[in-house]
Amino acid sequence: MTSLKQNKRVAIIGAGPAGLMAADYLSGKGFEVTVFERMPTVARKFLMAGKTGLNLTHNEPYELFKQRFYDRSKILESSLDGFRPEQVKQWADDLGAETFVGSSGRVFPKAMKASPLLRAWIGKLEKQGVTIKTRHQWNGFASKGVLISSAGEDFTFEADAYLFALGGASWPKLGSDAGWVQYFENKKIAVEMFEPANCGFDVSWSDYLKCHFAGSAVRSVTVTSDAGTIQGEFVISDYGVEGSLIYAHSAALRDTLKYKGEASLKLDLAPDIKIEQLEARILSLNSKASISTILRKAARLSPVKIALVHEIHPNLHKSDLARLIKSLEIPLVKARAVDEVISSAGGISFREIDASMMLNRMPGFFVAGEMLDWEAPTGGYLLTACFATGLHAAKGIELWLG
Ligand SMILES: Cc1cc2nc3c(=O)[nH]c(=O)nc-3n(C[C@H](O)[C@H](O)[C@H](O)COP(=O)(O)OP(=O)(O)OC[C@H]3O[C@@H](n4cnc5c(N)ncnc54)[C@H](O)[C@@H]3O)c2cc1C
Repeated sequence: MTSLKQNKRVAIIGAGPAGLMAADYLSGKGFEVTVFERMPTVARKFLMAGKTGLNLTHNEPYELFKQRFYDRSKILESSLDGFRPEQVKQWADDLGAETFVGSSGRVFPKAMKASPLLRAWIGKLEKQGVTIKTRHQWNGFASKGVLISSAGEDFTFEADAYLFALGGASWPKLGSDAGWVQYFENKKIAVEMFEPANCGFDVSWSDYLKCHFAGSAVRSVTVTSDAGTIQGEFVISDYGVEGSLIYAHSAALRDTLKYKGEASLKLDLAPDIKIEQLEARILSLNSKASISTILRKAARLSPVKIALVHEIHPNLHKSDLARLIKSLEIPLVKARAVDEVISSAGGISFREIDASMMLNRMPGFFVAGEMLDWEAPTGGYLLTACFATGLHAAKGIELWLG
């Protein structure tokens, strides 16, 4: 028997995790789904995410998980409730990409990369009748429908509902270049400025530090910012600092730089020793011991940590050592540019959409994924929220189309 829904056409623009999740749900419900993607192949950022280990979601308690989206945690809750981390795992398992939980609680497919999962997913979508049109670029709104161009030809595509899942502004060469902003702004839809998220920062390192320590990991340190005190590791790079511990603080540090005009990385280089213990150890050493010997023997600092202390305080006095080891401040110059970082903050304002993710000013037009104004740290939160908002918008479309 033919379902009534098969008469309803849905256009999805953007074949990343959010768009494909919506295509999966709607085609499963019998809608006629066409996905337009400007790149020659789909989900390039998803594939790129798999290059360093595809972190699909996180295994921490869900109450904690859903607070990871800063001041957008509340507004994303209804989407996340509809596709919780355990459902993300089940979804990947069902596609034959069995998952495991890493030591940090992060969840990965056993193959670590994205390609086997994506292949299985596209196979499923094809079986469900989804039409995927690659090398098809969306170029704005027509009086009825959307403007698409492909191979030098322009045409209008009309559907009963539309979902935009065009991504954020990072890594534009993978397809999401935020070129879409103009079309929404022309419709008076507020788009918050894109900013780098999960980013490194520039530091004015000396040539000595760059030459001898670029690429070195600084392990077992804590960083304190408005995001709290977190223990972990980061990497010294030619330009400054990067790595998971920096990304965890990057939203707070970026905002401090923006609003106060300055920010520093506040480090405890020996978080496992109390300052009093450190002072006692320093006193117990031969009074003729050099600063470097004290740093190495009393504080047991690695060469890169010793170099950092010398870099920031070239004229050290022994009496300051314990304090500086426990609270070294590295001045930050600026956040790295949005096009080279893992994700972006900013995008379509939540004020512009209703509870079903439909644009208030444009009935029948929905939005999902990283193109909305939210951000999250690394840890699988980004992909989970993209899947979850894609699914939420798809359910909104189902309801809208009756
Ligand atoms: C290096 C790297 C590693 C990452 N690792 C992880 C990780 O391990 N875990 C995690 O949770 N997240 C990770 N992320 C982030 C995650 O990949 C993104 O948050 C996610 O892909 C965003 O999904 P999306 O569907 O919203 O947008 P996207 O994946 O960006 O997809 C949007 C699609 O829309 C298309 N498009 C844009 N404009 C148009 C147009 N005008 N016409 C037609 N098509 C258009 C684009 O080509 C693109 O294919 C990583 C990101 C990067 C860059």
